[in-house]
Amino acid sequence: MENDASAVSTSEMEEVKIPFDEYLSSPDCAVRCCICRALLTADAAELSNAARVDLLIDQDLYVSPGIRVCSRHLFRGRILPDITIDRNRLQPLSFNVASAKELINDLVFQLRMVS
Ligand SMILES: [Zn+2]
Repeated sequence: MENDASAVSTSEMEEVKIPFDEYLSSPDCAVRCCICRALLTADAAELSNAARVDLLIDQDLYVSPGIRVCSRHLFRGRILPDITIDRNRLQPLSFNVASAKELINDLVFQLRMVS
């Protein structure tokens, strides 16, 4: 086999970060609301897929499946249009290879839902 400098092991691939600078992510949205940054309580509601698409299209904010927010930001499963996102703690979105695969699968799933 030829010596191929572009070949990397699986573990090295996991370290590669793919930036999506046009979009933002919230680093601690498992414990804090990604919209207002309040600590999540028992009242928090899981974002529907439609609400996640709302955030992605209207706010440039990508939120993983299963993330919860304060229920006051939602109406009938959708994000209320008058929300104000605290952008101070948001980060440019980036994925490692495994997460990028999950993202693509997630987006394909979303496309199937609307077609
Ligand atoms: Zn909130």
